[in-house]
Amino acid sequence: MILSNQYATFDWAGSRVEPTPLQEPRLLLVNHALAEELGMALSDQQWLEITSGIRLLPDMSPFAQVYAGHQFGGYSPRLGDGRALLLGEVVAPDGQRWDLHLKGAGKTPYSRFGDGRAVLRSSLREYLASEALYHLGIPTTRALCLVGSEEPVYREQVEPGAAVLRVAQSHLRFGHFEYFYYSGEAERIPALLDYLIQTQWPDLSQDQAGYAALFERVVRRTATLIARWQAVGFCHGVMNTDNMSMLGLTLDYGPYGFLDGYNPGHICNHSDHAGRYAYDQQPSVGYWNLQRLAQALSGLVPVESLRQALDGYEHALLSSFSETMRQKLGLAAWEDEDPALFRDMFNLMAAQQVDYSCWFRRLALLAPEGPVPEPLLTLLSDAGAWDDWFGRYQARLAREGRDHGDKVAQMNAVNPKYVLRNHLAQQAIERAERGDMSEAALLLQVLSRPFDEQPEFDYYAAPAPEWAGQICVSCSS
Ligand code: AMP
Ligand code: MG
Repeated sequence: MILSNQYATFDWAGSRVEPTPLQEPRLLLVNHALAEELGMALSDQQWLEITSGIRLLPDMSPFAQVYAGHQFGGYSPRLGDGRALLLGEVVAPDGQRWDLHLKGAGKTPYSRFGDGRAVLRSSLREYLASEALYHLGIPTTRALCLVGSEEPVYREQVEPGAAVLRVAQSHLRFGHFEYFYYSGEAERIPALLDYLIQTQWPDLSQDQAGYAALFERVVRRTATLIARWQAVGFCHGVMNTDNMSMLGLTLDYGPYGFLDGYNPGHICNHSDHAGRYAYDQQPSVGYWNLQRLAQALSGLVPVESLRQALDGYEHALLSSFSETMRQKLGLAAWEDEDPALFRDMFNLMAAQQVDYSCWFRRLALLAPEGPVPEPLLTLLSDAGAWDDWFGRYQARLAREGRDHGDKVAQMNAVNPKYVLRNHLAQQAIERAERGDMSEAALLLQVLSRPFDEQPEFDYYAAPAPEWAGQICVSCSS
């Protein structure tokens, strides 16, 4: 295992801070498969000590990064790792380099009024969701280890403290670049861009042309990330520019949520009163955020190049989204009437709040001929309103003339049976808070094969129960 912390050599980009150990820590989860991928053969005791902040491995040099960001539309000039530390960088056996980032590690110069801690509820939510998205094939940070503690943490109520060790190829955010741009230190930006190029995209040159290509890459990755969120029904909840990854990863899991019943205006964050980050706003917010990044890079990349890259956003997002939708409906090729078929489907789904994940998964059961199967009908509050749509869709399938079994297999490979519904996370959290990690472990196991039938776990694939609507998820974490 090769460890270093190249970022920490940028002493102007943050502060060296030692973790503040958690009191009475308990090892709750270790992602052994990921640890193996990273080439980190550590004992449980070592995972416990590192994640609770008791011990560092040789060559780790914990560092809190400074960044800024547009939060709910307004600029916050100084954010940063207020409760997280970049412990170091590990090079995996396959040569890939990863940041080790410890969240909940205590106060830093960027904690503002915060306590530097994270609660078990939000740490487990991050662990579950990042692994769920990873197994859905959606770019994301990943979770390596979760530690709980007896230390009380004060939020709306007293909650158990925790820390999560997460990894990503880079934790650089749009907000890093905004910080240096707006604080009058724009001359620092090239060093950060060069670092990103050197560690992630060595095919790019470390000059103006390379920076322009880098921005274009960030635009494309952001567009396809959001297209994938939309297709799977994922809402991030706090798409502030400090939570936007330069690598196009899903980053900083707060009040996220997967759609249950389809509601395009769904707001998963109870603190987001205006719905700025509602499900159907995510594509346009992604664009707005990229414009903020473009502004921060405007001294280094010609405005025309930035504009050109931004112009590619909508096409990249829509083509990725519609391609995925075509596959989700089991269609092999496009026909002229398909946009109308999709539009009418979404309108009907919204009118009846049809369960998003169950709908796509069960749609595969519909053959080109014959009655609509019962598992599909039970999702609809007014099946009669769907008659015309089912007729058109079946005629469409019949025209393609594909083998039904092949089509089912292809649809099942893109329509997950299992997603991390809010109430499933909630049940795992309540058990974890009582000291029982078995539900979380089982849920992780089910979510690691989201496209497989796993009939013994049908319970996890069912639409949400009534009480799920009462779960309150806010930024408080
Ligand atoms: P978030 O909303 O989690 O993306 O956090 C926004 C900013 O607030 C980041 O700079 C975090 O590091 C910081 N922050 C959030 N919670 C805490 C906390 N409990 N203690 C210190 N800083 C925090
Ligand atoms: Mg954040």
